[in-house]
Amino acid sequence: MSTRTAVVTGASSGIGEATARELAKQGYHVYVGARRFDRVQRLAEEIGGTALELDVTSEDSVRGFTDAVERVDVLVNNAGGAKGLAPVLEADLDDWRWMWETNVLGTLRVTKALLPKLIASGDGLIVTVTSIAAMHTYDNGAGYTSAKHAQGVLHRTLRGELLGQPVRLTEIAPGAVETEFSLVRFDGDAERAAKVYEGIDPLYAEDIAQIVAFAASRPAHVNLDTIVVKPRDQEGPGRFSRRPTN
Ligand code: NAP
Repeated sequence: MSTRTAVVTGASSGIGEATARELAKQGYHVYVGARRFDRVQRLAEEIGGTALELDVTSEDSVRGFTDAVERVDVLVNNAGGAKGLAPVLEADLDDWRWMWETNVLGTLRVTKALLPKLIASGDGLIVTVTSIAAMHTYDNGAGYTSAKHAQGVLHRTLRGELLGQPVRLTEIAPGAVETEFSLVRFDGDAERAAKVYEGIDPLYAEDIAQIVAFAASRPAHVNLDTIVVKPRDQEGPGRFSRRPTN
C-alpha cells in the first residue's frame, strides 16, 4: 500500500506545526503549507515531508498548492486566526475581511480543490480547526466569532453532502491554546498577547495535534463529528479561573 498522505494548512506555527509533526510520527507523508515558507521548509526537512508556499486567501496560490498534492488521505484545515478585538460599532472592515478570507473562504478554497482527491483515496478525512468561537458569541469578538461560525457551518454542511462518499469529517473546536494566535490578533503586541494566558494553564498546540492524530487513527467507519476541547481553567470564551499573578 502506498504511503498515506496528509495536508496541513497553516503549518508554520502553533497547532498546524504540531499537527504536522504528530501525523508524520504516525507514518503520514505530510504536505505543509503557509505563507512563511522558510518555516514550513524547516519543518518539512525535520519530518521528511513536503513544504509548499500557501496563501489560502489567494486563488492562484491555492491552485498551485493543491495541484502539487497528488494524493491526499487527510486534510487539516487549520490556517486561520483573529485580528483585533473591537465592538461592532468600531469594526475595522479590513480586519473582518482578513478573518473571513482566511478562516472561511480559505477553508472553502482548499477543501473544494482537494475534495476529489480525498474521495479518490477511498478513506478520506477532513479535519477543520474551528473554535469555541464557532459555537458562542462574545463582546468585541464578532469579526472572529462570525467567521468561525461560518467556517463551522461550511464544514458541518459537508457532513451531509458527503454522505455515501468515503470521507469522514471532524470539527475540532478548541478554547484557549497558547500559540502565536494572540500575537497575531493584537498585531505583534507581545505583552497584551501574554495576558490572555496569564494565571491559567492553557492548552498547547501538541494537545490539539494529538486529538487530530487520534481522529485520523480511527477505523474508516468511525466518524468523530465534533470535539470541543478547553483548558480545565476555562468554561467558555472570556470565562476563566485565573490564579493571581504579581
Ligand atoms: P498561529 O500560531 O497564529 O498559527 C496560525 C497559522 O495559520 C500559521 O501557520 C499561519 O501561517 C497560518 N495562516 C494565517 N493566514 C494564512 C494564510 N492567508 N494562508 C496560509 N496560512 C495562513 O495560531 P494557532 O492557534 O495555531 O491557530 C490555528 C487555528 O486554530 C486557527 O484556525 C485558529 O483560529 C484556531 N484556533 C486557535 C485557538 C487558540 O487559542 N490559539 C483557539 C481556537 C481555534 P503564515 O502566517 O506563515 O501564513
